[in-house]
Amino acid sequence: MRSKRARRFASADLISRTISVAAETGAAVAALQAHDTVKMTAPAEPSGYRTVHQTVARDTVFLAQTPQGFRRDVLQSALDEAARDGVEATDEAALAERAGHRVAIVDGEAANIKITTAADLTVAEAIARGGRPARTGRAGTGYDLHRLVEGRPLIVGGVTIPSPVGALGHSDGDVACHAVTDAILGAASLGDIGTHFPDSDARWKGASSLDLLARACALLAEEGLEVGNVDVTIVLERPKIKPHVAEMRALVARAIGIDASRVSIKGKTNEGVDAVGRGEAIAAHAIALVRSR
Ligand code: MG
Repeated sequence: MRSKRARRFASADLISRTISVAAETGAAVAALQAHDTVKMTAPAEPSGYRTVHQTVARDTVFLAQTPQGFRRDVLQSALDEAARDGVEATDEAALAERAGHRVAIVDGEAANIKITTAADLTVAEAIARGGRPARTGRAGTGYDLHRLVEGRPLIVGGVTIPSPVGALGHSDGDVACHAVTDAILGAASLGDIGTHFPDSDARWKGASSLDLLARACALLAEEGLEVGNVDVTIVLERPKIKPHVAEMRALVARAIGIDASRVSIKGKTNEGVDAVGRGEAIAAHAIALVRSR
C-alpha cells in the first residue's frame, strides 16, 4: 500500500466528514468530480498512437483523494480478501470495492492536492501561503566616507583597529556600520541614517555606530521587516582590515540580530588613487536584502 503522506492539505472538516460517512456506510473516499472530459483508450496501435476507445460521461467520474475511511470490519475483510488473492491496489477503497462493499463518495477539496513532483511543490507552496504573494526580498545600498585624521580611533565594523589615524566624525565614524545602516534603511524605504540619527542631535555625539545599526533594525522590525543578509566592501589604503574581518562580522551580525554567516565584509585598497588611495579617507559600500518577517 502506498504512503498517504503526499496530501498535506486535507482539512479537518474533510477528515471529519469522511469519518462520519464511513461510520454510516462502512466505507468512504474523498473524491473530486472531474472537470476534464475523460477518454478511455485502446491499447497502443502498431503506429505508436493511442486511440480513444470511449468517452466517459464526465458527471460519473470522480478523482479519488485521501482521506479514505472505513469501519474496521469492512477494512479488515477487504484486506483479508486481497491478501488471500495476492492482490495489490493503489488505495484501500479499491480493495473494499473488490470485496463487494459499497464505497460512498465524500466531496473532496481542490486544495487537497497530491505532492509528487517538483511542479506540485510549487503549487503546494502557493496553497501554503494561502494565496499571499511569494515572499520577495527588497534590496538597498549604502555608502559612506570619512576623513582620516590623527588623534581619532579607527573604528570599523565595531572593531578598533590599531592605526595612527582614525575617522573624523560626529559619531565614532564607523563607515562600515554607517553604510550597512543606510543599506538596510534604504531597502525598507525608511530614509537614511542622517534622518534618524542627525549630527545636530547631541544624543548621537560619540554614539556607537553598532548601537545606531541596532536601532535602525528595530525600526525595520516595527515595519514587519527583517534583514536577510548584508555585504560590505571597505575601501582603506592601510592598515589591512583582513585580520579583523571575523570580529567585525560577528559584531555587525549581533547588532542586526542575524547569524554572522549572513554578514559578508571585504577589504579593498584604492590602489593609491584619490584621497582614499592617499590614506586621507576611508570609505565603505554596502548592500542589504530586507524581507517581510
Ligand atoms: Mg558616516
